[in-house]
Amino acid sequence: GGTDVEKHRDLLAAENERLRREVKACEGELRALRQRQPGPCLPCEHGQENGRLQERLAQLQRELEEARARLGELDLEVQQKTHRLAEVELRLKDSLAEKAQEEERLSRRLRDSQETIASLKAQPPQVKYIIKTVEVESAKAKQALCESQSRNQYLQEQVGMQRQVLKEMEQQLQSAQRTAAQLRAQIGLYEAELERAHGQMLEEMQAMEDEKNRAIEEAFSRAQVEMKAVHENLAGVRTNLLTLQPALRTLTNDYNSLKRQVRDFPLLLQETLRSARSEIGQAIEEVNSANRELLRKYRRELQLRKKCHNELVRLKGNIRVFGRVRPLTKEDGAAAEAGSAVTFDPDDDAVLHLSHKGKQVSFELDKVFPPKATQEDVFREVQALVTSCIDGYNVCIFAYGQTGAGKTYTMEGTAANPGINQRALQLLFAEVRGKAADWDYAISVSVAEIYNEALRDLLGKEPQEKLEIKLCPDGSGQLYVPGLTEFRVQSVEDINKVFELGRVNRATECTNLNERSSRSHALLMVTVRGLDRSTGLRTAGKLNLVDLAGSERVGRSGAEGSRLREAQYINKSLSALGDVIYALRSRQGHVPFRNSKLTYLLQDSLSGDSKTLMMVQVSPADKNSSETLCSLKFAERVRSVELGPVCRRAELGSWPSQEQLEVTERPPPHGDSPGAARGHAAPGPGPPSARTASIRRKLQTAG
Ligand code: ADP
Ligand code: MG
Repeated sequence: GGTDVEKHRDLLAAENERLRREVKACEGELRALRQRQPGPCLPCEHGQENGRLQERLAQLQRELEEARARLGELDLEVQQKTHRLAEVELRLKDSLAEKAQEEERLSRRLRDSQETIASLKAQPPQVKYIIKTVEVESAKAKQALCESQSRNQYLQEQVGMQRQVLKEMEQQLQSAQRTAAQLRAQIGLYEAELERAHGQMLEEMQAMEDEKNRAIEEAFSRAQVEMKAVHENLAGVRTNLLTLQPALRTLTNDYNSLKRQVRDFPLLLQETLRSARSEIGQAIEEVNSANRELLRKYRRELQLRKKCHNELVRLKGNIRVFGRVRPLTKEDGAAAEAGSAVTFDPDDDAVLHLSHKGKQVSFELDKVFPPKATQEDVFREVQALVTSCIDGYNVCIFAYGQTGAGKTYTMEGTAANPGINQRALQLLFAEVRGKAADWDYAISVSVAEIYNEALRDLLGKEPQEKLEIKLCPDGSGQLYVPGLTEFRVQSVEDINKVFELGRVNRATECTNLNERSSRSHALLMVTVRGLDRSTGLRTAGKLNLVDLAGSERVGRSGAEGSRLREAQYINKSLSALGDVIYALRSRQGHVPFRNSKLTYLLQDSLSGDSKTLMMVQVSPADKNSSETLCSLKFAERVRSVELGPVCRRAELGSWPSQEQLEVTERPPPHGDSPGAARGHAAPGPGPPSARTASIRRKLQTAG
């Protein structure tokens, strides 16, 4: 039996070996197949299919791996079982050999015993002889026999035991044979299982083979299709290539020419830059010269404008005379009820009629403001003059008229209703602000008073000091007043401070301000200096706003003493003003500026292309009609001069004096006859210098 098992084991091992070879062959085939398979498809329509197939292949390989593992396990089991079988067989052999030895030993002993028995049986004669001996020696024989019988007994027992052992051995052998049969059956089972596994593996391999073939076929057909597409593409590309060749040729040509251009570019660039630079330089030069030309033209235009303006002013007359009739006031008393001596022409705002001593006299001025005219109305007519000061013109505005006719009201006005002075400065500020983009302006003011032909600085520290008017040492012919304070003003607040300081200083100089102000000329002198930042052009214009002393004839009422002197000074200066205006308008070679402080001081603001406005203030009251008549005559005469070309000068003769103005009315008064003129009261308390000092501190003196 042992050899059968061995044979079977050998068979199994051979089978196992064969299967292993087959598996190896399968693997080889699979590898070859994988190599034959086309590389990873480009992302084409078959990519998905291929992926699926590869997945399937991987699954099959996994299954194959599993089967192989199972086969390995079975193999191991078979080996173990074979090993165990060999052990059992070895053991069986050993026990069989032992049994044989024991049998041999036992049978040898049996044989020995039988021989001993036979030898003992074959000795009867001896026994007979011996019987006698036995009978002699029977006791000894009997003992020996007994011994032999016991020995025999023992041997038989031994044989029985051996037989028992043999029997047991036989039983053992039978059980070993059964075990071997069982093992054999098990081996059969294993073999069947192995067979089945092999079959399964073969089937799987077959399926895999089929799968592989199918995959190969599919891949092949797909590859064919792709190949076809590739061929088509190739054909397209070929035709493209054919058409591209000329394009390539032109491109190459282009490239070469571009290369040449690039090579030549720096040179070209330099050349172009050089020419551009020279062109730009030329252009700049041209622009510069154009600019110069423009600047020249601009300057010429400015001059032309000025000339035109002058011409216009000349045509309009650069001395203009306005009349302003104040409203009737309570102070006019009964006259107020009696009504106005002055009436107006509804169709002509330049004409007014005065009823004087039952007669109506008409006067034509440049403009007449009736009592209802407001400060704004008046200023509206004046503002063009004021602004021309910014352009560098000198301007004088005089308020002329008898005391109480409204001169101060027109020039200074009230706090609630300011007059020309304040409005003019406000306008100047506004104009200067409007031109600030191109121009730098500085506005400065001086306030002075001329009393009894003495010039006083109302902004100075020593207002009582008399100032002199001098010729500029630079030979320009310009006049200046050494020591006259000039404040730089930048706002309405500054102006108010200046006016306040002027008023305070003036008040400290007299006991009765109203009286003093009617006996002196008050001057507000505004200087506007401008610099055109673009052209460097400088302008300087002066605006002189003069509240003249009262024009009433004091002398006729028999004034004397200081009052008479005041009256004489006033007469003299107002006549001098008239003379100067006359001389200017009639273009006389000599203008008597030096005849009064006022005209001398205002010389450069009255001559040349300066502009003058005479605002003749009159009272509408009946009781003032003679003074009104005088004032209006003065106004008309001033105005008539402007009509006078040279030829008319002779007609008009010289300017009438203040007294002459009166001649038409009454005989000239005796200049030094005693009269009711009030003298100066004693000087008041000392100057409130602390107040003026504080105002002065707040103001900035103009350079
Ligand atoms: P003058 O300075 O010529 O002596 P004022 O200006 O002092 O005269 O005027 C005398 C009075 O008449 C003042 O009370 C003033 O307020 C008033 N007055 C003058 N003109 C007008 C006017 N246009 N409207 C209203 N009141 C005026
Ligand atoms: Mg006054």
